[in-house]
Amino acid sequence: MENVADNLKRINERIAAACARCGRDPATVELVAVSKKKPASLISAAAAAGQRLFGENYVQEFCAKYDELDPSLRWHFIGALQSNKVKYLRGKTELIHTLDRLSLAQEIERQWRKIDAVAEVLVQVNIAAEPTKAGVAPEQLSELVEQVAALPHVRVRGLMTLPPPGDSAEDSRRWFAHLRQLAADITARAVANVEMRHLSMGMSNDFEVAIEEGATLVRVGSAIFGARD
Ligand SMILES: *Cc1c(COP(=O)(O)O)cnc(C)c1O
Repeated sequence: MENVADNLKRINERIAAACARCGRDPATVELVAVSKKKPASLISAAAAAGQRLFGENYVQEFCAKYDELDPSLRWHFIGALQSNKVKYLRGKTELIHTLDRLSLAQEIERQWRKIDAVAEVLVQVNIAAEPTKAGVAPEQLSELVEQVAALPHVRVRGLMTLPPPGDSAEDSRRWFAHLRQLAADITARAVANVEMRHLSMGMSNDFEVAIEEGATLVRVGSAIFGARD
């Protein structure tokens, strides 16, 4: 079995070192431990080692773990989301990273209105305009943000991206810098109810570069929980 506690310790040290290199306060970067396809027992091991925030990709798998595990754990949804599954996330997730279309925002609005709560979301950007990848095109981003901003029970809190696969972590840098620039452009437009508080970018292979480029949420899975099959 993976030694989750040791892995977490090492990742947190690398986050701190990356922050030190670029003069950032480590409190401005939060680790999302991505636990998709991993058993609840490994999540419990991570929780015992102090990790409270987890990211899940699949609605059904998430709900099973949510019911089984410590209710004080925090959850982010980071997977592709179909509108007809939104109701199962209602009230359980602190942040949805993968909003990429208005129809999905409208369903989140409908569901969170029922519990008189506000859903916080990140808009996923298809930063390199890859044909098969989810996310809004950079050219359509500001229009989507403005449409979502009009929904009273949905709040845009930042942007998320998955850069194209590269040969090394450095290959991701320009895409992360591009996401940061898109967030700055939106901030400059000062859309009511929209706040670019978060940049969700960086995974096991490139989270240090992401921190250097301004990530506030890094989504790390296999470096904590081991390879997925
Ligand atoms: C699986 C996944 C991750 C974690 O990837 P690792 O390479 O295992 O760190 C991060 N973000 C998203 C959206 C994912 O689907």
